[in-house]
Amino acid sequence: METRTTELQTKSRSTERNLLLSAGPCSAETEAQMMETALRLKSLGVNLFRAGVWKPRTKPGQFEGVGERGLFWLRKIKRETGMRVATEVATASHVNAALKYDIDVLWIGARTTANPFAVQEIADALRGRKVEVMVKNPLNPDPALWMGALQRIKEAGVKHIYAIHRGFSSYGKNIYRNPPQWQVALEVKQQMPAIPMICDPSHMGGARKHIAPLSQKALDLGYDGLMVEVHHNPEKAWSDKSQQLTPEAFLRILESLIIRDETTEAESTKLDCLRKKIDRIDDDLLELLAERMGVATQIGEVKKEQSVTILQSGRWQQILGKLEKRGRSLGLSNTFLHEILKSIHQESINHQEKVMHK
Ligand code: PEP
Ligand code: MN
Repeated sequence: METRTTELQTKSRSTERNLLLSAGPCSAETEAQMMETALRLKSLGVNLFRAGVWKPRTKPGQFEGVGERGLFWLRKIKRETGMRVATEVATASHVNAALKYDIDVLWIGARTTANPFAVQEIADALRGRKVEVMVKNPLNPDPALWMGALQRIKEAGVKHIYAIHRGFSSYGKNIYRNPPQWQVALEVKQQMPAIPMICDPSHMGGARKHIAPLSQKALDLGYDGLMVEVHHNPEKAWSDKSQQLTPEAFLRILESLIIRDETTEAESTKLDCLRKKIDRIDDDLLELLAERMGVATQIGEVKKEQSVTILQSGRWQQILGKLEKRGRSLGLSNTFLHEILKSIHQESINHQEKVMHK
């Protein structure tokens, strides 16, 4: 079968960045679903096909994967398309089964990485075996726990290890399913520079619309590749359907991504590093503001239901006093605090007004 070289690969070659491109469905469902998705991804130039055959679900009673049958389909895809294949493992018996079917890459999921006993059990099963391993970040934003898992796998003698950044669990409403908290991954990247850092924008974003901007951000931060959930018919997917892309939508995203030349730490000036830091903080600030406005909109809905006025100036004065005091203790000037808090408040009122007048 003819392989089309994606824009991403062409561009990465021209900038001499060797990007790993992994894609595939969240879960293996049927042989036909796997084959159809795989053939389309192969034609886009994907080099690592992913699919989960054992699915760790937060709540019981949901689809928990097809098990060993899925490994058989993965091996068939490997043989028929030449793509390398990857699946998730959480126990020693998963490792043994996956290796029986010649799976090239095993990934440790976020829920498993958080448990050192489980990671050690996997590491022991990997000793002396020839396979590559990807370690997703743990659910909680703890760089030491993530690095500890990477280290256990390394100490088991695994030669090719990757870190996958898929974002961190959070309580309450957030624009992302698993907010990235980029600084955590950047710390791991800095402390373990030999381990490629791959971004999984699908689990971070939790919705299709977030995949392109999150992927771009990862590339801008110098990540070494992407792992994206792609399904031939996402609406019918048995898990994670709102974040899976069709192969066509995935291609459009790949073509839109801009790959900038990477400057190594040594080459880039101190000023560049600081500017990158500022850019990251600015981006985080905007996301936080957007999140705040989302909450303001919800408050607007409650006020509308209860026929309460938008502006309750007593409450705002109280908040303002507290925030100005806190801001001053952080070294921010009075004038600045006054201006910025006033305009944030005004923007919240505007969002609430929109709800009221709907
Ligand atoms: C997955 O990749 O489908 C998965 C379950 O991921 P995570 O461990 O990141 O939730
Ligand atoms: Mn998934």
